[in-house]
Amino acid sequence: MTLLQVEDLKVTYETDDEPVHAVNDVSFAIEEGINYGLAGESGSGKSTVAEALLGLLPGNGTVEHGTIEFDGTDLTSLSNGELRDILWEDIAYIPQSAMDSLDPVMPTGDQIAQAIHTHRNVTDAKAQDRVRELFEIVGLDPDRTDDYPHEFSGGMRQRVTIAMALALEPDLIIADEPTTGLDVIVQDKIIDKILEIQERMDSSLLLITHEIGVIAETCDELSILYGGKVMEQGSVENVLVDPTNPYTMGLKNSFPEIETDDVDPVSIPGSPPNLNQEPNACVFRDRCPFETDACRESHPDPVDLPNRNHRSACHRVKEAAQMRRTATEPET
Ligand code: ATP
Ligand code: MG
Repeated sequence: MTLLQVEDLKVTYETDDEPVHAVNDVSFAIEEGINYGLAGESGSGKSTVAEALLGLLPGNGTVEHGTIEFDGTDLTSLSNGELRDILWEDIAYIPQSAMDSLDPVMPTGDQIAQAIHTHRNVTDAKAQDRVRELFEIVGLDPDRTDDYPHEFSGGMRQRVTIAMALALEPDLIIADEPTTGLDVIVQDKIIDKILEIQERMDSSLLLITHEIGVIAETCDELSILYGGKVMEQGSVENVLVDPTNPYTMGLKNSFPEIETDDVDPVSIPGSPPNLNQEPNACVFRDRCPFETDACRESHPDPVDLPNRNHRSACHRVKEAAQMRRTATEPET
């Protein structure tokens, strides 16, 4: 069953200057029990997608169009209050930099207890018990619930935010860069912990990260964003082992630890696209070694590749195998 279906989502930020077209006609679906990755470099629109899903866009952000269906309910039709209930009951959200946004003057355990009290009519003793239990689940010492955020390391603070997000046993966990800024060993531990909990609670996961290697290790399916557009999506094996989009080919090259078959390196020099314009040409054209006239005329629609869970938005998708073989350094 489909748990989350995002269709044609467009988000724009108003600024003093020109508007920023941060997310442009993004569609993807997460089936129940699936770990889904949302990848893409900085500024590609990953956090904007998450915030739009949860009704948490900043004041200058607007969902221009699109539907977001969670468990059969269109989230865009809900009031803020209704959305807030779903947010805690059914969807857990670990925002980007969550570990730095804990209240510095309140004991960590109390912050979690407060979240529980807001959504459950329980006694203080019950809430405290649950907090101790959650500390144990995320691998923190349950005798340290009175500690303040500054008494914990970065990795431990991130565990606190995960405990908080999990307080009500959600169906979907959305984690935005949950390991960024942590050292590699701690990163692995946090990812393992999220996976362990997610399996135990039988929830689905939407993992947002610029580290495609983390997605390769942990996810079943993914979408790759660039300039607010989905460039390629489908099962991790199909997309990452057999990329059909020059952007994915290049992205993969920056993560050499991913096993490759016949993929020649494609470097991606150049800067990110200008988001002040509607994408009226392929958003990756300026950095693409395979650009043709068609790429300057329109952004390609994603097309389904035959007989597999794999879609790609590239005018030259039919030549993917050849592009992979003959990848050449673009002029700089
Ligand atoms: P990162 O990997 O750095 O977290 P991201 O993929 O999460 O990046 P977003 O934070 O979604 O990217 O930002 C997408 C684009 O929207 C960027 O160009 C960003 O500068 C712009 N943007 C984000 N928030 C706002 C805002 N409140 N007002 C104007 N522009 C914004
Ligand atoms: Mg982000």
